[in-house]
Amino acid sequence: MTEKLRSVAIDGPSGAGKSTIAKAAAARCGFLYVDTGAIYRTVGLAARRAEADPHSADDVAALLPGLDIRFDYGPDGTQRMFLNGEDVSGPIRTPEASMYASAVSAIPAVRAFLLDMQRDTARTQSVIMDGRDIGTVVLPQAGLKIFLTASLQARAARRLAELAAKGDKSALAEVTADMARRDEQDSHRAAAPLKAAEDAVILDTSDMTLEESIDAVCALIAERFGGEAGR
Ligand code: C5P
Repeated sequence: MTEKLRSVAIDGPSGAGKSTIAKAAAARCGFLYVDTGAIYRTVGLAARRAEADPHSADDVAALLPGLDIRFDYGPDGTQRMFLNGEDVSGPIRTPEASMYASAVSAIPAVRAFLLDMQRDTARTQSVIMDGRDIGTVVLPQAGLKIFLTASLQARAARRLAELAAKGDKSALAEVTADMARRDEQDSHRAAAPLKAAEDAVILDTSDMTLEESIDAVCALIAERFGGEAGR
């Protein structure tokens, strides 16, 4: 019997907890978790290393043919990103890499370059894929679409705690401003702007704990697909 593949699209602004929530929900429900932000971050890192202007469509597009971007899953199930064979899972997580990712992701050639890689994954496995345009562009046929959001204050406070845990001493004002700038960039770009799909369920996690948010996503999955969701 062929396995029935299910796709869950989770979109939303940065810092809404998408990755953590989607990853935990995927593990619980038997889906493969795909973090598409990590893929855009890898292109951003490549642009920074090449000293390209990340806002220049021509400069960034010229780099694309030379990029071999792949991902796999480590022994603990963590998604690892590879740029031309090098594991860049760490370097793509700096605040600078975030800004580069946000800038290059506004370039249509970059989005086109990464589209098939994302779609191919959902063709062979049941996935929970998170990003900005998964429900609207990458997997418009996804069986469940969730728009996961939270207030700017809640998101900035969470990101600050995450950075502090890594020894980064950024101030709340700086993190909030960075996040507001990324929100602005992500929501107002012409190419695949961040917006909820018409048929997305909106989940606001401002007043939810992480556990409550994971439970809420799992409840939506169970409701939509039934008990044996991803398997
Ligand atoms: O999700 P994360 O914050 O890691 O994503 C980094 C950047 O990549 C975002 O600011 C966004 O601009 C971009 N991105 C995107 N489309 C996606 C995933 C991420 O444009 N599907």
